[in-house]
Amino acid sequence: MEILQPDLYLPKSAEIIDVTEENSQIKTYILSFIDKEFNDSFAPQPGQFVLLSVPHYGEAPISFSSTPDENGRFHLSVRKAGKLTSALHAMEKGDIVGLRGPYGRPFPMEQFEGKNLLFVAGGIGLAPLCPVINSSLQNGADRCVTLLYGSRTPSDIAFKADIDKWRQHENVTCLLTVDSSEEGWQGEVGLVTGLFGKCSYDPDDTLAIICGPPMMIRAVFAELERQGFSDDNIITTMERHMKCGVGICRHCHMDEKLVCKDGPVFTLSELKKLDVMELRS
Ligand SMILES: Cc1cc2nc3c(=O)[nH]c(=O)nc-3n(C[C@H](O)[C@H](O)[C@H](O)COP(=O)(O)OP(=O)(O)OC[C@H]3O[C@@H](n4cnc5c(N)ncnc54)[C@H](O)[C@@H]3O)c2cc1C
Repeated sequence: MEILQPDLYLPKSAEIIDVTEENSQIKTYILSFIDKEFNDSFAPQPGQFVLLSVPHYGEAPISFSSTPDENGRFHLSVRKAGKLTSALHAMEKGDIVGLRGPYGRPFPMEQFEGKNLLFVAGGIGLAPLCPVINSSLQNGADRCVTLLYGSRTPSDIAFKADIDKWRQHENVTCLLTVDSSEEGWQGEVGLVTGLFGKCSYDPDDTLAIICGPPMMIRAVFAELERQGFSDDNIITTMERHMKCGVGICRHCHMDEKLVCKDGPVFTLSELKKLDVMELRS
């Protein structure tokens, strides 16, 4: 029988060093653990997540929207969804949250090296892709990076500063769309899949990385398959309600797999072996 570590569910205290408002619903928290030694050894990978706790409100899984910087600070970007995330949104610089992790299978970053990358994201789904995009641009390889990003309205477009920064790179294309326009918006209106026809890449030589709501994932899978992407070259992150985060409670099961341990990152080939709602017609 597996002997569980006694402190498995014990969160570590982290200080909110700063808060950035991405839009009216999403805030990015810049954090650092109080325990400096632990903070120095903390090395989450893109695609991994933490269980974030706010006293009296419980825990929620949140992905890293950055890797730690040279000062050991890392980012979590959080959409106000319910009680816990609303309580977090009321917190400020200097406040303390609990974190346990990092958990989950990260993106296969070594597989991305030197490859053309097509990122497709909706809403807060861009958060876990930020460190992947940043690291693929840092590695400076001569490859094309395309981002297709959908938001509800122009005011809901998050990570604008990151997008502006990425656009300065020569081989980067960022295309944005919104579900409904607002005064002054001159960009695209419509679903993120409508952007596919507005950019070019070679499906045989490109990896597609997707993160967003289930309906978007389903539509994007269908479009990528139609274009001839192989199932192994389509990578996504999956969201399920989660409790323990460490593969014990099985709350986040997706058929026989667990999102917390086997994922949250999966290839389409892996998902096709499971009965998942994102693939049901
Ligand atoms: C691996 C993983 C990574 C995630 N990363 C992020 C992130 O980086 N940023 C972010 O803002 N959110 C992320 N989420 C979603 C986030 O965990 C939920 O929005 C959060 O738990 C809501 O907590 P709450 O108490 O505020 O809302 P609740 O009151 O618990 O719920 C509010 C609404 O959100 C829905 N919801 C709650 N939890 C989930 C979930 N796990 N999956 C789908 N819907 C949910 C509920 O059904 C309800 O409709 C992630 C989820 C997973 C599984």
